[in-house]
This record gives sequence, structure tokens and C-alpha cells, in this order.
Amino acid sequence: MKKNPFGWQLLLYLWVGPITLLCLPLALLAKWTGGGYHLHTGVLEIWGGWVGRWLDRGIPLLGAVNAITIGHIVAGISPQHLHNSRVHERVHVAQFEQWGFLFPLVYLLAGIKARLRGGSLYWDNPYEIEARAKAAAKDQHVT
Ligand SMILES: [Zn+2]
Repeated sequence: MKKNPFGWQLLLYLWVGPITLLCLPLALLAKWTGGGYHLHTGVLEIWGGWVGRWLDRGIPLLGAVNAITIGHIVAGISPQHLHNSRVHERVHVAQFEQWGFLFPLVYLLAGIKARLRGGSLYWDNPYEIEARAKAAAKDQHVT
């Protein structure tokens, strides 16, 4: 994650805060069901347990994913999946910081626009294209 001055970073946490807070209980759910969580470069990373199994089975619209970013939270199937997708998911964290709590709506609308043009809601979504390109540039796996 890009290093910002403390005051600016605090504003970014607040700007994205409603989404992050909404999904904060996932950390406890993961921990209580065999997974875990930790802070990594200013982001709460959650893995395993029911959360990991849920991601592995598939989520609405996206299907099975290695990891997913929700505000300043990244949930993954396992610590290894989080490691492998870190660059990709940090691009989504930056996108959340750009759009704030509106990002899920902006992401969905961009995906619908791609779908209406005959593409995939996920693969042709410009926010996914950006994340894949930056991850590929750093030679990381994509999700
Ligand atoms: Zn992505």
C-alpha cells in the first residue's frame, strides 16, 4: 500500500470506514472457526475458517476467489492465498481509497457496463484489469 502522511491516511480509513466496519466481524468469524487474522501494511488480512471455505466455494457474481478486498480488509482462503494475491488486492484497497464506501457500487456498475458490451462482469471490469496489470507488472499471481 502506498505510504501516505498520517493525517491523510487517517482520512482514507474514515472514507472507507463504513465498508470496513461492516465486514469487521468476518475476522472473528474466521478466528472462531479455525482461521485467523493479522494486520499487514495497514490492512486487516483474514483467512481460513468459514470465511476461507466460503471464498473457496464461491461468492455471488464472482464465483470462487483466492481473496477479496472489502475496504481495508482482505479476506483469503489461506495465508498463502493472501501472500500470492497481495499486490492484486492492494490495488483494490487503493481503488477503495479513491472511491470510499461508494466503491462497491462503482465496481458493480463498471462490471455491468462491461457485461452490456458483451464482456464479463469480472474479467472485463476495468478495476480488475488494472489490478491484474499491476500484479503482472510485479510478477504476482492474480485472483
Ligand atoms: Zn480483483
